[in-house]
Amino acid sequence: MDKRFNATRPDGDTPKILLVEDSQFFASIVLRRIQEDLGFQVDWEKTYAEATAAIDCCKQSYLLALLDLNLPDAPNGEIIQYATTHAIPSLIFTAGIDNDFRSNLITWSVADYVLKDSEDCVDTLLQIIRRIEKNRHIKVLVAEDSKSMRHAVVRLLETQLFQVFTAKDGIEALKTLTQYPDIKLVITDYDMPRMGGFELIQTLRKSHSKNDLGVIAISASDDPLLSAKLIKSGADDFIPKPFQVEEFHYRVRHVVEMLEHIELIRDLSYKDPLTKLSNRRFFFENADQFVDEARQKGLAVTVAMLDIDFFKRVNDTYGHHGGDVVLQHLSAMIRAEFAHNALTSRFGGEEFCILLSHTKDEDIGTRFDAFRLAVETTMIQVDSQTVQITISTGLSSESETVETMLKLADTRLYTAKETGRNRVIGKPPSANVRD
Ligand code: GH3
Ligand code: MG
Ligand code: MG
Ligand code: MG
Repeated sequence: MDKRFNATRPDGDTPKILLVEDSQFFASIVLRRIQEDLGFQVDWEKTYAEATAAIDCCKQSYLLALLDLNLPDAPNGEIIQYATTHAIPSLIFTAGIDNDFRSNLITWSVADYVLKDSEDCVDTLLQIIRRIEKNRHIKVLVAEDSKSMRHAVVRLLETQLFQVFTAKDGIEALKTLTQYPDIKLVITDYDMPRMGGFELIQTLRKSHSKNDLGVIAISASDDPLLSAKLIKSGADDFIPKPFQVEEFHYRVRHVVEMLEHIELIRDLSYKDPLTKLSNRRFFFENADQFVDEARQKGLAVTVAMLDIDFFKRVNDTYGHHGGDVVLQHLSAMIRAEFAHNALTSRFGGEEFCILLSHTKDEDIGTRFDAFRLAVETTMIQVDSQTVQITISTGLSSESETVETMLKLADTRLYTAKETGRNRVIGKPPSANVRD
């Protein structure tokens, strides 16, 4: 991976932007919008001299530089040359596009440019910054046999801060995808030795749907039917060579954003917005497969139904907001304790269901009783007050299907409530720790 632009900078902290702009009016609007809308930090420099000093001292800390093409002490874009040779991803403000500007743009390797006098230019700018910031976490694979073309495409993607991987043909591309299953986008040439783009796309689509992996094909072929064939074989888009830089970026952004929208819709339909745990629908769509996989590995499975005791009183005493905080806190505890080898979900209200796999000799009752005790002894902070809750749990490990396990766990949860709450009821008898 070419590390000219460091896709992981700046680690962990709030992203910082270097703004180089001599117009007080324009800079103050940009500065305020970046701070307020994006929550990013901004260093604002007004001259070439100040900006180069900032780059010399702190280049590692900048996610991105926003550069005015014309500065009082550097009227010909010198600052852009300086920033990009110091490997700072750069966005340019310019008054217009002419041929000189376009040819410089390619050699400068900038991320993008914004037309300063367009009405919505600050909104556009924020969109680009937001996009580039997200790109740092997105892996893209470039399959291309021509070294120069491969480098050119990689360079374009790296100006956008994508994490870029390369392959020289379809076979290498498939290998890289197996190695990095979280690759989100494949950009493939059509004509390559061993396995070309057409076969690569067809193979990819057998295992990766359009909801999980984006594919863009690139080709210089003059076959007028090629784009149609590639799109029908599963490509999301097609870019003919040669292409304009803006066109390339636009198409890549479009596919990446489409994937993000699909992910968002999935999240909305499978996740409980309050607790971020999976919901009931996700549970039922995945439980059978979870059980099958566990049993194939020779593991046992247990269903646990958990319900907060007297939760109505929490709402009555601390208000609905207090109740929400408690639900979020308990959910975080469930996630932390049962994150591995389990489906954890909020079934509704203050009721949770955990389906977990474990070794056959694990005393699962003891584990849930330890969790019960951990909940009982946790002080949950609600504003300036602390709240303590207890939970009742019904367990079922011995039944065959998810449905019958759920029924049994639910009956035992009811028994736990009936017999005094704050307890775990399950089998084997050792699980009934507090009976
Ligand atoms: P038990 O020990 O028998 O389970 O008593 P309980 O009070 O916990 O049970 P009940 O089912 O009578 O009340 C559950 C309450 O949970 C009623 C409902 O208003 C509240 N609730 C459900 N969903 C939410 C939520 O998302 N936020 C908050 N704050 N309260 C919720
Ligand atoms: Mg080729
Ligand atoms: Mg309850
Ligand atoms: Mg309830």
